[in-house]
Amino acid sequence: MVLLDVKNVRKVYTTRFGGNQVEALKDVNFSVEQGEYVAIMGESGSGKSTLLNILAALDRPTEGKVFLKEKDLSKVKEKEMAAFRRNNLGFVFQDFNLLDTFSLKDNIFLPLVLSGTSHKEMERRLLPLADKLGIKNLLEKYPYEVSGGQKQRAAVARAVITQPQLLLADEPTGALDSKAAKELLRLFTHLNQDGQTILMVTHSVKAASTAGRVLFIKDGKVFHQIYKGNLSETQ
Ligand code: ADP
Ligand code: ADP
Repeated sequence: MVLLDVKNVRKVYTTRFGGNQVEALKDVNFSVEQGEYVAIMGESGSGKSTLLNILAALDRPTEGKVFLKEKDLSKVKEKEMAAFRRNNLGFVFQDFNLLDTFSLKDNIFLPLVLSGTSHKEMERRLLPLADKLGIKNLLEKYPYEVSGGQKQRAAVARAVITQPQLLLADEPTGALDSKAAKELLRLFTHLNQDGQTILMVTHSVKAASTAGRVLFIKDGKVFHQIYKGNLSETQ
């Protein structure tokens, strides 16, 4: 089943002064099946952030449409966007975006608190997830007390505790050393094996190679894609 469908997406930025136009995305078409793990690679300036912002419903395309399941994102009203994102999407960022004054546990709970989930339900979801992500003993710690890799694992927990249809990751290994990066990618693989659909933007070939499919974007267009071969299953 198709989870995400990107159809003829074009994005033009008009600069404030002089009215110069930048066509950041030209005609982007691709879809992601439920349960897929897809990476998007491309050089700086190729349109990755623009695309991710559109998929995250933070920005709207100039032309074209994005569907999540059957939901047309352009039909989501501005004031419902935050709730739509919270209920359907999980985000992982390069620089973690954890709140320093909250414990890891409270950071992880935050999206559930915002959506009014009961405390009992929050606790019920937390332990198995923290266990899976290897942060069970760190939940009372604060972000400044743990390593980058541990911060990112807490950020992943926060992203998936809402059980999002789609996990969007923007350079999730960009701020990690190679060991922590490898561990994070292993977690992504495990989450995906448990059914989580993942879309990850990355500069790293190593990171991209853990995905089932890699889309290459250049000058605002998807110009190539590679499906992972069976061989790499044993990596
Ligand atoms: P990344 O490191 O993800 O490729 P960029 O350096 O392309 O990020 O962009 C960083 C931020 O600056 C983004 O939010 C993007 O929307 C904005 N940005 C990039 N290029 C321009 C531009 N020419 N004019 C205004 N904002 C821009
Ligand atoms: P990437 O994330 O791959 O680095 P971006 O999506 O940030 O690429 O940028 C794609 C193109 O759009 C670049 O030419 C960039 O300068 C331009 N751009 C991005 N954001 C803006 C913006 N807010 N205003 C004007 N131009 C932008």
